[in-house]
Amino acid sequence: MSGQWAAPAADSAAATDRKALEILRTTFGHAAFRGAQEQIVAHVAGGGDALVLMPTGGGKSLCYQVPALLREGTAIVVSPLIALMQDQVGALSQLGVRAAFLNSTQDAFQSRDTERALEAGELDLLYVAPERLATPRCLELLARSKIALFAIDEAHCVSQWGHDFRPEYLQLSILHERFPAVPRIALTATADPQTRDEIRRRLGLGEARVFVSSFDRPNIRYAIVDKLDARAQLLRFIRDEHAGDAGIVYCLSRRKVDETAAWLAAQGIVALPYHAGMDAQSRAQNQARFQREDGIVVVATIAFGMGIDKPDVRFVAHLDLPKSIEGYYQETGRAGRDGEPADAWMAYGLADLVQQRRLIDMSEASEEFKRVSTAKLDALLGLCETAGCRRVRLLAYFGEQSAPCGNCDTCLVPPQTWDATEAARKALSAIYRTGQRFGAVHLIDVLRGRDNERVLRWDHHKLSVFGIGADLDENAWRSIFRQLVAMGLARVDHEAHGALRLTEAARPVLRGEQPVAMRRAVERKRAAAKPSRAPGGELPPAGADLLARLKAWRLAQAREQAVPAYVIFHDATLAEIARCQPGDLDALASIAGIGARKLERYGAALIAVVREAG
Ligand code: ADP
Ligand code: ZN
Repeated sequence: MSGQWAAPAADSAAATDRKALEILRTTFGHAAFRGAQEQIVAHVAGGGDALVLMPTGGGKSLCYQVPALLREGTAIVVSPLIALMQDQVGALSQLGVRAAFLNSTQDAFQSRDTERALEAGELDLLYVAPERLATPRCLELLARSKIALFAIDEAHCVSQWGHDFRPEYLQLSILHERFPAVPRIALTATADPQTRDEIRRRLGLGEARVFVSSFDRPNIRYAIVDKLDARAQLLRFIRDEHAGDAGIVYCLSRRKVDETAAWLAAQGIVALPYHAGMDAQSRAQNQARFQREDGIVVVATIAFGMGIDKPDVRFVAHLDLPKSIEGYYQETGRAGRDGEPADAWMAYGLADLVQQRRLIDMSEASEEFKRVSTAKLDALLGLCETAGCRRVRLLAYFGEQSAPCGNCDTCLVPPQTWDATEAARKALSAIYRTGQRFGAVHLIDVLRGRDNERVLRWDHHKLSVFGIGADLDENAWRSIFRQLVAMGLARVDHEAHGALRLTEAARPVLRGEQPVAMRRAVERKRAAAKPSRAPGGELPPAGADLLARLKAWRLAQAREQAVPAYVIFHDATLAEIARCQPGDLDALASIAGIGARKLERYGAALIAVVREAG
């Protein structure tokens, strides 16, 4: 050993780093650590406490899984998502890692088996539900066993002000008191400083090193389109850009979820509904199919989300406006956790804005809560209406500065702005002249000079504003009214059935003292000129056939073992095989996502599939 003259600590740290990389490559099949993973692994493996803030898909699991294998004893992982434990343990077992879980889904015999394995030192990782962990029985069991570390996943569940609060998490401070020498790592994708402080305080992590990653998700392409015929737009988006892909479509109401899912299914898309009004069994069934099978689209209310750990969701589509940027970011964050290209797509229109405002105005909540909700909605509207980079806007909201990304709709096809001063004046005048008692549909009829029954009934064809907007079509006017509301020049009066009213800010515009610039209403052009964004990049024609065969093989494996398809191999790994067409195990071993254990287990079968196709 050449290191005997070096300082022992530095020497063993370097050895640990080498070992960590080896585990990453041979066990997990990844070539290199991502971002802060390397530092976090070194810190925790060395016995330090850590608080890790990383976006969804950032790669939090490896931050405790690798130290679990580096340190002596068993890593205890606290996770609130009982439904996922089985899949996580299944995925680790595929890699040859000794993992198990303890939760309420097991019978006494199964638990006892697991407890015995823990005491005997036969486990690398043990997943435990939080309510189980704090029981005297479990604490005594831990005291009798060798514990490598505690990992507290979804650590924001300890925050009483957050929407995922779990009272059981408050008891986790006991771990520090009972096992002061065991390192702890808490992980979350919730970024805001209040939550961070609360986690530190409540879990006794005051001394922990904090690792904050960028919240950027560069592989997600953000696009927000003007809502014209939302369903048809959605269908075109799925068919043109995501045929056969897994995706989530969010709607606001249960009824709309059911209708949209049925409609998509009638168009030949494998679409399943999910909302809290369904019976528990069909809900669980739809979630399980989404998680385990390939290429299923789930249409859901926001009840669907927490507990979805599928890495290969290729798109998240919003047919309704979320409540805030936090909500939008969390929901869209479920796309592309595997780091491969994914889309966040939203159709947005005036009616959405009116609806969200009404939900706030009509709610029973306190004035303070309404004020905060309104401010959050306004920030989201700013994102929808911006002519600049969406990502810059998003990240700025989370306190991060960035440059235009080149991977959002406004970067790819910069929206044209136009001088809308005259049009804005006409629209505002129409609101004023009709007595501030009508919604956008009627106002547009008046502006465009349509003498329909409603217009005649109110004598609005006699007004000076009648027909002064005939030069613009209905979509253009819809976009104008939407932007007037988003800019705060007009507001929606819910006491008066959604009538538009002028605000103070409208005065200088009406008087012609203030110019108004608006985004031009255009539907995003078809994807013709877009570079291919299939996972792993473009495939040669023969590769497409091979990829289909590989997927069929994977599905059969997944069914046989009752695990999700991605647990066998990720899409990107299969795509890479389809491109390289490896002829032997050595060539196969060099492909990302194929570790030693999977090579041993599936290598021969994969080579056979490649040969058959060739
Ligand atoms: P999180 O829990 O932060 O949402 P995960 O731990 O589930 O993220 O990881 C997300 C995806 O990224 C997984 O598919 C995982 O295999 C992959 N991944 C994580 N770290 C790496 C890495 N260093 N190299 C390649 N892929 C990685
Ligand atoms: Zn951009």
